[in-house]
Amino acid sequence: MLSGSASTGPTEDDWAAAVAAVRRLPADARVLLICHVNPDGDALGSMLGFGLGLRRSGVRRLQATFPGPPEVPEPFRWLPGLDLLVPAVEAYPDPDLVVCFDAASESRLGELVDRLDTAGEALVLDHHASNTGFGRIHLVDPRAAATSVVAEELLARLDVPLDADTATCLYVALTTDTGSFRFEATTPAVHQLAARLLATGIRPGDISRRVFDTRPFGAVRLFGEVLGRARLDRAAAAGRGLVWTYATLDDLARHEQQPYVLESLIDSVRCTAEADVACVLKQVGVDEWAVSMRSKGAVDVSRVAIALGGGGHRFAAGFTGRGGAQEVLGRIRAELDGALTGS
Ligand code: AMP
Ligand code: MN
Ligand code: MN
Repeated sequence: MLSGSASTGPTEDDWAAAVAAVRRLPADARVLLICHVNPDGDALGSMLGFGLGLRRSGVRRLQATFPGPPEVPEPFRWLPGLDLLVPAVEAYPDPDLVVCFDAASESRLGELVDRLDTAGEALVLDHHASNTGFGRIHLVDPRAAATSVVAEELLARLDVPLDADTATCLYVALTTDTGSFRFEATTPAVHQLAARLLATGIRPGDISRRVFDTRPFGAVRLFGEVLGRARLDRAAAAGRGLVWTYATLDDLARHEQQPYVLESLIDSVRCTAEADVACVLKQVGVDEWAVSMRSKGAVDVSRVAIALGGGGHRFAAGFTGRGGAQEVLGRIRAELDGALTGS
């Protein structure tokens, strides 16, 4: 058996297969690291942190990439290991090993999905319960707070010690996906990992300020406008409540802002006490929206997202919605009642 069940995480056989896949690489092997489209802190942090560890362990021909435009979101443009990145068009067409980070399904790999077939071996590191089981060797642990938890364990099993650069990347990934240790997935193991990372001497205050607390003034004004149009729908989700807003490409243009500034918008909306579910629609094209959803627990938003073609976790999920904003919202509302957890 090469694959552990999605609910229990990797088996010892899975770990052994992953370790062997790296250890048996010849000295001139080409290794390609891929993370999901629109990379977030966990996607980039786990990929670059693992990449830096691999490089220290002697892998010389190493690339990291992600699908879509090759722009790293501003909050991550200082990460160690950015020199590993190449645009997707320049990625090895047939690497000896491909390693995927934080992607629940092949669709999240965009134009890079063919590497799963062209690569000599395909290793998948992830923590989505909805992971579809693509690739050949699966290190998928839905109990893990971030993909970086899995990446750090694999580095440890490869006897690659942490250094400050690797730790910085993994710390960014861990704090991003745990909401700076606020979310349910923040287990004792998460804090133990954080302690190992901090012990390398990294500075959590500097890291958090750069990732979470630095935005242009225009973004502050943009948030004012977009939060001002938020709506509370108390009857939605069988009375548990839905709060939502939207931001258009025109909003971004008027405030001269890049799309990344909207990533944290959901955090300003989801604090609404009167709603279990929060939702932000971010326009990405004509009649196309990147939808972010969060739940306080009564609704499993991953069910809504999966029903509408996306994915995610129980408390945080998303999908790409097509049509007008009201139309997309209507579809979300229709799915909410069926996604009550009963808790
Ligand atoms: P976000 O709201 O963009 O922070 O995304 C929250 C979670 O939802 C992510 O961790 C992903 O697991 C998932 N997600 C977001 N957008 C998509 C999508 N288009 N397809 C599949 N999963 C998604
Ligand atoms: Mn992610
Ligand atoms: Mn993640």
